[in-house]
Amino acid sequence: MFEDTHDEHVLLTPGPTPIHPRAQKALIRSMLGHMDPEVFALNSEIQRDLREMYGTEPEGFTALLAGTGSLGMEAGFANLVEAGDEVLVCANGSFGRRMAEMAARYGAKVRLVTAPLGEAIKPADVAAHLDDDISMVAVVHGETSTGVLNPVPEIAELVRGSGALLTVDAVTTAGMEPFHMQQWGVDYAYTGAQKCLSAPPGLAPVAISERAFSRFAARRTQTPLWYCDFEGLRDYWVNHTYHHTVPVNLHFAFHAALRAALEEGLEARQARVRLMGRVIERTLAPLGFSHYVRRPEDRLPTVLALRLPEGFDDAGLRQALRQREISVTGGLGPTAGVIWRLGLMGESARPGPYHRLMTELEDLLGAPGLLDRYEAVLAEEQRGELALA
Ligand code: PLP
Repeated sequence: MFEDTHDEHVLLTPGPTPIHPRAQKALIRSMLGHMDPEVFALNSEIQRDLREMYGTEPEGFTALLAGTGSLGMEAGFANLVEAGDEVLVCANGSFGRRMAEMAARYGAKVRLVTAPLGEAIKPADVAAHLDDDISMVAVVHGETSTGVLNPVPEIAELVRGSGALLTVDAVTTAGMEPFHMQQWGVDYAYTGAQKCLSAPPGLAPVAISERAFSRFAARRTQTPLWYCDFEGLRDYWVNHTYHHTVPVNLHFAFHAALRAALEEGLEARQARVRLMGRVIERTLAPLGFSHYVRRPEDRLPTVLALRLPEGFDDAGLRQALRQREISVTGGLGPTAGVIWRLGLMGESARPGPYHRLMTELEDLLGAPGLLDRYEAVLAEEQRGELALA
């Protein structure tokens, strides 16, 4: 039976992340209509802040889709791909494969570029598959299923000037990792509100380039997905005409979370993730945990994938932690039982939640001194950061 006793629950999963206190507070505001002038003013601020988060063209189009990150993914293919188009998809994990499946459902002929699990896509492999027939290249920036960061700037450089559009899944990166849509030449980017921004799930913030709008305008057929039709989106977000009833209370919460992120500063957030990643890895290494992703440059800072020690009771431990109100995520498919994926997005990349984890692990694993080591390493890393500042 559902019991509302989870006020102190610690969410260390690779999404959703703990809700930001300002977003939590904004959720309880009284309801306004989706056509209310105050809501349009709020939406304009959200669009402006999203331009900054994504690094778009100065007047670049941004918006929120009423759905999760997967809707952001689907809307890109639905609007920008027509039957018979050739789409090159970089797929080195579950979410890259999801992109390939969606592109195929919208009629694309999909060319796959893959990499072994735990390794990043090689730009040279993209170059080898890229020719004049390709109308779109799609890549996941941070592959959540394995904790791998794909080299989007290098891939973007190859795509620039090729005539293909570039779609980037920024679900585990935007708002916490460097993302420069205009500078890199990205045409369509999306994330999920519940990831790096620590807002509630249910919104997919997107950014769409002018080039993407031109491609959309030149479609031979209408997009089959009416709900997220780019023109319908523009009607509501720019022309303020009714398209569908947006979830206004989620907009309030999202606005508060995004403001908080920009006030903290995107670079400060990048430093915070890296510091916490180092602290956790150094604390757990003496117990036999090690990086799953071999090459340091391939590691996604926001999802720390750690290989488990020999003989570690993955399922048992995570269940025991769950009973103590801590959620930790294991591997997916071939990495199940092999890794833990510790979330370092948004509000989870803070000392407090991991203090709770180390406290409980010390007890459950019978590892005296674990918490002391965590505190000592944290203090040392924080001093190092101050010295650099
Ligand atoms: N893309 C990536 C990289 C993800 O990690 C996720 C979710 O974890 C998604 C897409 C799908 O997002 P959602 O579960 O919000 O639909």
